[in-house]
Amino acid sequence: MNQIEIISENSNCTAINVGSMDKWNEYSIIFPISRREVKGKIFLKDATQATGTEISLNSLPPKAELPDFHFHKKNEETYIILRGSGLFLVDDDSFPIEEGSVIRVAPEGKRCITNTSDSEMLFICIQSKAGSLEEYTIDDGEQVSIKGVES
Ligand code: ZN
Repeated sequence: MNQIEIISENSNCTAINVGSMDKWNEYSIIFPISRREVKGKIFLKDATQATGTEISLNSLPPKAELPDFHFHKKNEETYIILRGSGLFLVDDDSFPIEEGSVIRVAPEGKRCITNTSDSEMLFICIQSKAGSLEEYTIDDGEQVSIKGVES
């Protein structure tokens, strides 16, 4: 499957399925300005109708690197490495990454990832406006009782 499937949708929820992680490499996007096609990238904002984050699911082939170093104007990014290993580069710094690595990069940090391994690298990138988080973890939650469930 390389089509995003809508599982459920209502005024408070959009649920989708992008398929197995092993099939993420079948997706591709075309960047609007450069018209360049990038394979193995799934953006989720439009599909989920998210308003505070842009999340991408990414597959980087063996011995490949992201198409370019880039930075952002307003958004920080957090990369979560799910599979594979390689090098993360930020400005003049580079360090090894592997399954379980989590890297936050400030907007102005020029970043790139190189997959140095012989297997595919899978990672999630979460993009959100730097400094926008006000309440978080449990501070922003409100508990409610669920209909029909005794508490
Ligand atoms: Zn980015």
